Amino acid sequence: MPTADAIDAPPVIRSRLQKLGLHRRDDLVLHLPLRYEDETRVTTIADAPCGTPVQVEARIIDLSVRPAPRRQLLVRVCDAHADDGVLDLRFLSFYGSQQRALENARECGYKLRLFGEIRAGFLGPEMVHPRYRILADDEKLPDSLTPVYPTTAGLSQASLRRLITRALHNADLAELLDLDWCNRHSLLPFGTAVTLLHAPPPEASDVALQTRSHPAWRRIKFDELLAQQLSLRRAYLARRRKGAPVLASAGRLGRRFEASLPFALTGAQRRVVAEIAGDLAAPYPMQRLLQGDVGCGKTIVAALAACQAIEAGYQAAFMAPTEILAEQHFLKLQAWLEPLGVEVVWLTGSLRKSVKQAKQLQAATTAQLIVGTHALIQESIDFARLGLVIVDEQHRFGVVQRLELRRKGGNPHQLMMSATPIPRTLAMSYYADLDVSVIDEMPPGRLPIRTRLFSDSRREQVIAAVRAVVAGGRQAYWVCPLVEESAKLELQAALETCAALSAELPDLRIGLVHGRLRGDEKAAVMAAFVAGGIDVLVATTVIEVGVDVANATLMVIEHAERFGLSQLHQLRGRVGRGRDDSVCVLLYQQPLSPTARARLKIIFENTDGFEIARQDLHLRGPGEFVGSRQSGVPMLRYADLEGDADLVELAQALAVHLLHADPMCARRHLRRWLGNREELLKA
Ligand code: ADP
Ligand code: MG
Repeated sequence: MPTADAIDAPPVIRSRLQKLGLHRRDDLVLHLPLRYEDETRVTTIADAPCGTPVQVEARIIDLSVRPAPRRQLLVRVCDAHADDGVLDLRFLSFYGSQQRALENARECGYKLRLFGEIRAGFLGPEMVHPRYRILADDEKLPDSLTPVYPTTAGLSQASLRRLITRALHNADLAELLDLDWCNRHSLLPFGTAVTLLHAPPPEASDVALQTRSHPAWRRIKFDELLAQQLSLRRAYLARRRKGAPVLASAGRLGRRFEASLPFALTGAQRRVVAEIAGDLAAPYPMQRLLQGDVGCGKTIVAALAACQAIEAGYQAAFMAPTEILAEQHFLKLQAWLEPLGVEVVWLTGSLRKSVKQAKQLQAATTAQLIVGTHALIQESIDFARLGLVIVDEQHRFGVVQRLELRRKGGNPHQLMMSATPIPRTLAMSYYADLDVSVIDEMPPGRLPIRTRLFSDSRREQVIAAVRAVVAGGRQAYWVCPLVEESAKLELQAALETCAALSAELPDLRIGLVHGRLRGDEKAAVMAAFVAGGIDVLVATTVIEVGVDVANATLMVIEHAERFGLSQLHQLRGRVGRGRDDSVCVLLYQQPLSPTARARLKIIFENTDGFEIARQDLHLRGPGEFVGSRQSGVPMLRYADLEGDADLVELAQALAVHLLHADPMCARRHLRRWLGNREELLKA
């Protein structure tokens, strides 16, 4: 149904606009240029600098079609405003109509207004495929820079410009924020900013506009960040208004558990345990993200939270993204907590139906800690009294799943854990709907992992290293190449790698684990590796997260250049879990692209996950960093989380203030920026 805010255009155009994410008039207003062209002045051909776009006005003196070697239309023009200056225009593809119009222009003596780069051609200065207009009358030059918008096939710059200009005329550009406040923070009024960005005066600094450091850009970026903060924050507050069980306990179970551990908690672990304990004792649901680098000891923190829930008479669910990981957690938690009298249940999608039904029944009745995979969310399990949900490696869950979880089983407290450390501004931005705790300290006595880079041509040496490690009574991981396009090819690569290694290392016991194995098959291989019955575990990235085998001290990653940085960091974290020196070998295939080289350099030079994440963000930008565009979190088009950190903080502060003091203003701002996309977050 067309609304007052609908875009007034034919259906074909509307569908093309939709491809660009433009559905409403306000979307057009906020569709800002990529760059600008200066068509406000003309220069003479003689004075025009080479290699930069210029505008000249000229008259046609000659026009010919050259048939070979490549058919082209050649137009010779002379400057319309000077006595000298001749230029050849060359069109490699052209229509007959175009040729006729130009011939007509020559006969009538019309001027051409040309825009393009002049370069030195074979016969003198030339322009290849200039943009041009035939000027029948003396047309005025535009008085603002010409915007160039992101567009899509079938939608010309000219029509997009017309649509946007019209939208600007009709849209409501009213200021929604307090003008004094804006002034104090050097933010231009909204209307001024958008008007300027769509049609900057010629004297506006080109550089500031292109690099988006112009004050008008600052306002737009701020508004975008504000919309993001408002929507996430609103979702956070809405959930906070729901009630949750108060998980208050004397802490006896947790203390007994801690006392049974062979080590003491680190200071950082202790701090986050206290933060979580406070949340759990509140009458509204915890929404906390626990971040900490690979190996910092998040599982124990989660187990302590579970203890608190269990002692308070509630159930806790512990979920992991893969079966392997979930089972590892199960074995660990069972070993820790069953001796203390806790009933721990293993629940996963791949269990046989009858077994699963029995387990589900247990979950629905007596079980105190239920460990499993996503199946726990996706299938309808009726928990008896679910008090706490723990989600490990939450970055593997999309936001949609995160929201789905919240709809599940009343309003349990939620603890999300992630080993993908993300830089502060990014966290502030994308996790504005969560409280964040950080473990920034490693358990004592860890030896650093040495990282080594090997070109594939030195594979022999790497094989020798594997042999040596196993001879020393240790184990190794061998990670197969990632084949993003096809799971089938990836499986094939894994099988080939395994066969090749078995041939190269005939005396060693080599195991293979990949994503296509059934859950129980995977579990059997992993169990054999944990028990030391396998020397070298060939694996696809199914081992990426969470696996913990202290005796494994060598990790080889094949085609390391194909992996993302956080993935490499996670994989590398699989070794160095015990007290022994560990090595991670990154095998790469020559030649490396410059980006691949830069990435390997980062992983080679850094062991701190936060630093790696920071550099990764720099390399890739936040979009890819946080995951899919479909994630439901409003993506940032204009703000740059690295460069605009101050704006992120300002936006967060204002969002908190507005939601409290001026919810109407918050709503209007959200509508302007997100339209109905905001619905996604209402959960
Ligand atoms: P992650 O944060 O990557 O999930 P884990 O919870 O798997 O890390 O812990 C990694 C290893 O460190 C485990 O073997 C765990 O038992 C051990 N560990 C955790 N906390 C401590 C500690 N305070 N002191 C010594 N070892 C610890
Ligand atoms: Mg873990």
